[in-house]
Amino acid sequence: MSLRFEHETLGQRVRFASGGAAHAVREEVTRLGAARVMVIAAPAETALAKQISGALPVVLVHDEVAMHVPVPVAERARAAAAEHDVDAIVCVGGGSTTGLAKAIALTSGVPIIAVPTTYAGSEATNVWGLTEGARKTTGVDPRVLPHAVVYDAALTLSLPVGLSVASGLNALAHCVDSMWAPRTDPIDAALAAEGIRALASGLPQVVDDPEGLPGREEALYGAYLSAVAFASAGSGLHHKICHVLGGMYNLPHAPTHAVVLPHVLALNGPAAPAAADRIARAFGSDTAIEGLQALRRRLDAPRALRDYGLHEAQIPAAVEAILSVVPENNPAAVAAGDLQRLLHDAWEGADPR
Ligand code: NAD
Repeated sequence: MSLRFEHETLGQRVRFASGGAAHAVREEVTRLGAARVMVIAAPAETALAKQISGALPVVLVHDEVAMHVPVPVAERARAAAAEHDVDAIVCVGGGSTTGLAKAIALTSGVPIIAVPTTYAGSEATNVWGLTEGARKTTGVDPRVLPHAVVYDAALTLSLPVGLSVASGLNALAHCVDSMWAPRTDPIDAALAAEGIRALASGLPQVVDDPEGLPGREEALYGAYLSAVAFASAGSGLHHKICHVLGGMYNLPHAPTHAVVLPHVLALNGPAAPAAADRIARAFGSDTAIEGLQALRRRLDAPRALRDYGLHEAQIPAAVEAILSVVPENNPAAVAAGDLQRLLHDAWEGADPR
């Protein structure tokens, strides 16, 4: 480990407040001195948002949310925010909802208070994403980093077990990829290792006791750490692959990450022994891949991309697109044949070992 590195810590307030989101959000709105709040929540999360926003100075409730933030959806939300002269946004939902709030903040600078209800982690990053046609663009801008995040595990009780598992493995992928992503450093690795431990402990509890809070709290804690590590370390090979697949073929975000992760770990692990050892220790297992696969079996995790809409004939074009974005410092050398094999295994759900 080299102790010469530069690490940027992003400034935001983070509150863990199981059962207390309404109070915590109210305090954060007061702290901002906001008087004209826009609440964003998809129709499925409107009831959750109502529980939180009763005592807020709400001037606008917006519920048009779509995966990967299509530009027209962002434009309509920006226009509504401007028309109502909002001075703070409270977003309640998964990564798609947080993403819409970020799209507004990107052009207006209106501060965001994020209340996440999945483990996607967008709330802890300064990364925005917009989709125009089939092209997803992402960028980094300090204006989109939420000023405050309020984690309330009670709001995730309604997230079905299958979605919780896929979303939790999306968070785990942030951790694993952070071990070798382009800007990784020892702080990212420490956060990622603790994130892996927390997710590997919390997610089985969510499966065993979906109505219980402790597992969901631990999973949220792990998801937050995963996102902080990811925001600093940047996108490694795993995220590049999933970004291409999501953008080209509109595959669902969390399950795609859940399926692809073991295949990337099997490819990169042997070429990054120190990272693999750290991952193994975080899982409490002999090897990184054994730890991940044991957890995936325990969670009955998504297994094959063909179950999520990828066609075998689409693999060659994806290989081409991924080849041009493989990070230069990826631990394993990656040739077209490696990607072809990796995607084919992920498509059919083969054991990556
Ligand atoms: P999502 O926000 O689309 O939510 C998935 C589904 O879960 C939706 O149907 C939603 O209505 C439902 N849901 C959410 N919370 C619920 C709850 N508590 N109870 C019941 N149902 C609930 O998906 P996601 O996986 O959370 O986020 C994916 C998006 O986030 C992608 O567009 C991805 O690119 C983006 N993302 C961005 C960053 C970033 O740093 N910018 C990081 C991670 C993810």
